Amino acid sequence: MAVESQVERRRERLVCRNPLTGAELADVPVMGRDEVRALVAAAREAQTAWAGRSLPERARALDRLRRSLAARAVEIAEVIRSETGKVHGEALSEVAVACDNLAYLKRAAPSFLLGRRASTAWLLHRRARVTYEPYGVIGVITPWNYPFAISMSAVGTALAAGNAVVLKPSEYTHLTGELVASIIKEVIGLEGLVGLATGDGRTGAALIEAGVDKIAFTGSTATGRKIMAAAAESLTPVVLELGGKDAMIVCADADVERAARGAVWAAFYGCGQVCMSVERAYVVESVYDDFVAAAVAEARRVRTSDEPEAMVGSLVAAFQLDKVKAHLQDAQSKGARVLLGGRGIAGAGYFFEPTVIVDVDHSMDLMREETFGPVLPIMRVADEEEAVRLANDSTFGLDASVWSRDRAKARRIADRLEVGTALINDHLINYAIPDLPFGGARCSGFGRVHGLEGLREFARPKSWVEDRLAPRREMHWFEEGGSGEERVRALLNLRHGDGLSTRVRAAWRLLLSLRR
Ligand code: NDP
Repeated sequence: MAVESQVERRRERLVCRNPLTGAELADVPVMGRDEVRALVAAAREAQTAWAGRSLPERARALDRLRRSLAARAVEIAEVIRSETGKVHGEALSEVAVACDNLAYLKRAAPSFLLGRRASTAWLLHRRARVTYEPYGVIGVITPWNYPFAISMSAVGTALAAGNAVVLKPSEYTHLTGELVASIIKEVIGLEGLVGLATGDGRTGAALIEAGVDKIAFTGSTATGRKIMAAAAESLTPVVLELGGKDAMIVCADADVERAARGAVWAAFYGCGQVCMSVERAYVVESVYDDFVAAAVAEARRVRTSDEPEAMVGSLVAAFQLDKVKAHLQDAQSKGARVLLGGRGIAGAGYFFEPTVIVDVDHSMDLMREETFGPVLPIMRVADEEEAVRLANDSTFGLDASVWSRDRAKARRIADRLEVGTALINDHLINYAIPDLPFGGARCSGFGRVHGLEGLREFARPKSWVEDRLAPRREMHWFEEGGSGEERVRALLNLRHGDGLSTRVRAAWRLLLSLRR
């Protein structure tokens, strides 16, 4: 027997577990460079066939996909719940958001991708236009917190623009990623069009080096930095949708009860593990006490448990629980007071009590770093001016909201916030509007998903110039014995000169120069 065959070559594998029960859900290989490259090669082949389909044909395929997701929504939600510990309503809303986005793409993509005419300035005998072509193969890397909605949104938009995709889901949500790829395969039927790269961060890193034409990354700011550095090597373009530390500003004239209910929902929805969760509330002094009392009363009503019908589910894993505890400990050691909650819930899963905390300030990690847990820190501010200053005192800039009965005033305040999305009297809900570009400012990333701006991320513009008339010589070509200065000056004056007489003289000079 050859020595070689006696060696057991074990591949590294990843075991995915249900956070609620600890049960093993899947055991998948950690794909390395060669396997990821093979997926990219297969995707490249499928892309040619996919991009060859007409725009209406692709739009119809996306619509079939939408219908299939809607029909299988409960089954998909179960898989999401099993990997993330989400409650049913939240898991199901991921499917709803994905369906809405596909419906939007079906409606908006064909006309956008047809391209547009461009005006030709002084070149009246030319025709100019812009068309949009697919990049080729897009590497989509996604996090665990919205494993279906985020993956389907990026993959769906990339497909709408005629690309193929290799999807690298989070190691915590492999099954949901697999579902995204398999449903698309079932509906569209092109082998390799959406490849699935299983594994951990190393697999994601391999995808960036595997020759993809663009990277669409959603995840933490720390990983985003690594992605950008790695992509710089090959000048691969990137879209980075990164972390957040969303602020809400409660003005003196806000409907305080409503604002408190909104704050509790936006801080605890998804167990606070939403990039757009309210992680800082700045409340003007005159309504501070009322707001805090209303927020605590509302937060008491929030049921956290492993029942699918509870309001809030589990954190995704132990590392999230540790982070939430560490942020609270740091804040308390610096003088913050927990008014409600503040502890993990014993038993299976990674449950944490909905927590309201006050007397916080910007020396605390809780107010500066992404916490990603069911914690609502409330800070008293003297006035709206101070609230704006503090809201902008952050490295992040994803979303922010302003709560006031005076919408015009709220808009003026929101205008001064350096964020990707500003909301008035609500929070979080912008991601559910597929026509609205979503993305960040500052260290929350750049590039957009959703809306025409999102489609543009996956479609490379190509500019065209054609002749309408073809004279023997063009006036911008070389002319005998000169640099063409006289003509350029005449043209400049004709188009931009001050006063009618300057322009008429310029037109005359231009005509004379053309006759030479
Ligand atoms: P991570 O940054 O840890 O991971 C995101 C993805 O990147 C995962 O698939 C991960 O794989 C992969 N990855 C890790 N290291 C590398 C690497 N070196 N090269 C390539 N890929 C890599 O984020 P989380 O999964 O923890 O998600 C939570 C974060 O995502 C939060 O910061 C949240 O704010 C942000 N987020 C932002 C959103 C936005 O739209 N702005 C929306 C949702 C979340 P693996 O998990 O297998 O390690």
